[in-house]
Amino acid sequence: MNHILEFNLEAGWVRVQPGLVLDQLNVYLKPYGVFFAPTVAPTNRATIGGMINTYGCGKGSIIYGRTSNHIIELEWVLADRTVTDSQSINQATLSQYKQDSGSLG
Ligand SMILES: Cc1cc2nc3c(=O)[nH]c(=O)nc-3n(C[C@H](O)[C@H](O)[C@H](O)COP(=O)(O)OP(=O)(O)OC[C@H]3O[C@@H](n4cnc5c(N)ncnc54)[C@H](O)[C@@H]3O)c2cc1C
Repeated sequence: MNHILEFNLEAGWVRVQPGLVLDQLNVYLKPYGVFFAPTVAPTNRATIGGMINTYGCGKGSIIYGRTSNHIIELEWVLADRTVTDSQSINQATLSQYKQDSGSLG
């Protein structure tokens, strides 16, 4: 699970698998003059999945933002093996979801 699946320079996004290491992503992006902003340490070991899970930020976060500021969409698997997608939601929708007594809530 460490592959780069899709890259759209014009739109400014890249779709990756969660085991991709931060340095590997930035080596790939460098020729295009862009980088994945969060500079957590250690960059040669931290995976994108681990950075998302630990809410990673790093020394450039005041300028560039932390990992969560750069996630457009996630595909994830729940403990009951449900595969689902998540995208940014507003506070009102979050409040609705919190009322759900199932795994979504
Ligand atoms: C020496 C050192 C310096 C650091 N400095 C900084 C810093 O300056 N700024 C900063 O923000 N952070 C820092 N960190 C924390 C660092 O950001 C995290 O340790 C790192 O991002 C986690 O990535 P990892 O691949 O090592 O994850 P792991 O440690 O392997 O995993 C972290 C957590 O995420 C879970 N996880 C991993 N992948 C997935 C997945 N695909 N799906 C679900 N859960 C998953 C794991 O089960 C675990 O609970 C530092 C860590 C170290 C060791």
